[in-house]
Amino acid sequence: MIKADPNTSRRQLILASAAAAFLPAGLTRPALVATPACGRQTPSQLEGPFFTPNSPRSNNIVKSGVMGSSLILTGRVLDQACKPIANALLDFWQCDGRGHYDNKGYRLRGHQFTDSKGFYRLETVVPGLYPGRTPHIHVKAQRAGGRILTTQLYLEDHPANKGDFLFDHRLIMERAVNGLSFDFVLSA
Ligand code: FE
Repeated sequence: MIKADPNTSRRQLILASAAAAFLPAGLTRPALVATPACGRQTPSQLEGPFFTPNSPRSNNIVKSGVMGSSLILTGRVLDQACKPIANALLDFWQCDGRGHYDNKGYRLRGHQFTDSKGFYRLETVVPGLYPGRTPHIHVKAQRAGGRILTTQLYLEDHPANKGDFLFDHRLIMERAVNGLSFDFVLSA
């Protein structure tokens, strides 16, 4: 026979009354808390063969002649406690809508820094397919003096995601009001 712990009911009462103290009038059940999105660092991925250092500073990486549908990517850089990281470096590079990288110049390559609230905004094009890969955007993220996180971002529901050797659903860009969105999480 299992004996009831005489302290259990008292402990539960204390917890229940403590929880009730934080509830707005009229609410009988605690509201669901949104799942924190920033406990873990954004997964890293291979740099790939097409990174070019010393990209220009620009949040619009679409230069004249670039092929592809316009895409606005926005989001924030956060630490693992969900606090925004101001002045974090984001260096993006990608192929155009036809799957071509500019390996001689800096089309679709550029770096920027997050604002005081950790926000960034990138004007680019939807990346296309090239042999062996699903569409993706490459990025390096780094807080001042911190480690560089190299990773890649993906399109939701793209049919080529399934067979891609690097695709990771945690790196899918979410739909946003005016485009797509992704929040990066950096460790200390
Ligand atoms: Fe690539």
